Amino acid sequence: MSALLEARGLSAGYGQAHVLHGVDLTIEPGQVVVVLGANGAGKTTLMRSLAGLLPYDGELRVDGETVGAVRPDQMVARGVSLVPQGRGTLTALSVTDNLRTGAVGRRDASGVQEDIDRWFTTFPRLAERRHQVAGTLSGGEQQMLAIARALMSRPRLLLCDEISLGLAPVIVQGLFETIRGINEEMGTALLLVEQNAALAMGIASYVYLLEVGRVVQSGAAESFAQSDSIRRVYLGY
Ligand code: ATP
Repeated sequence: MSALLEARGLSAGYGQAHVLHGVDLTIEPGQVVVVLGANGAGKTTLMRSLAGLLPYDGELRVDGETVGAVRPDQMVARGVSLVPQGRGTLTALSVTDNLRTGAVGRRDASGVQEDIDRWFTTFPRLAERRHQVAGTLSGGEQQMLAIARALMSRPRLLLCDEISLGLAPVIVQGLFETIRGINEEMGTALLLVEQNAALAMGIASYVYLLEVGRVVQSGAAESFAQSDSIRRVYLGY
């Protein structure tokens, strides 16, 4: 069986600023993978490349098929959806309309409505605020909305870029329980970029360590957590 997503020799950057230098990464269907790395290592650049938001050199395959066009709608159509860093909700639109924008390209109106109801059940705070514009939500609620919106395309792989950033620990705990539940119930694979490495490692089975745009180490999460240097630098114990 092909991997869900495979990057081979992925390089990307911004004009003359080369950030990623030949990254290899594989995500199997239903797998939870975490990318660790210091600030500026290129984690967001990697996520944006995988989401079709940044041009790259190298090869990207989904279900064994090479992705030709570097376009976010192409990646969404192939089942890859990004929860961008900084939430990325449309602040002037209502909660419900934000969810609808996540379903662009879907033709099954009744399925879309079912999914909206489903995510309202998962995130009751959003249901209570369904008519409110997103800009008036709390940080945690906006993050819930960003996740639910990314799920509206029914992705098989959800790319989560620092979903815990700036949120209270109790909210973060809830968000992680929710995405873990989505992974377990729906088989949605997760790629997590996370400051809160301990939390992410708690639900991940595989880890990549990115340093200055290169994968310097990768392996099963359990073996990673046993490495003293990884524990000291990323897990803080
Ligand atoms: P952080 O944890 O701080 O978000 P990161 O690992 O996600 O870090 P990136 O955001 O991918 O790192 O940034 C990697 C490098 O690319 C950094 O040196 C950054 O300054 C640079 N960079 C990021 N965005 C741009 C941009 N739009 N234009 C030019 N350089 C950029």
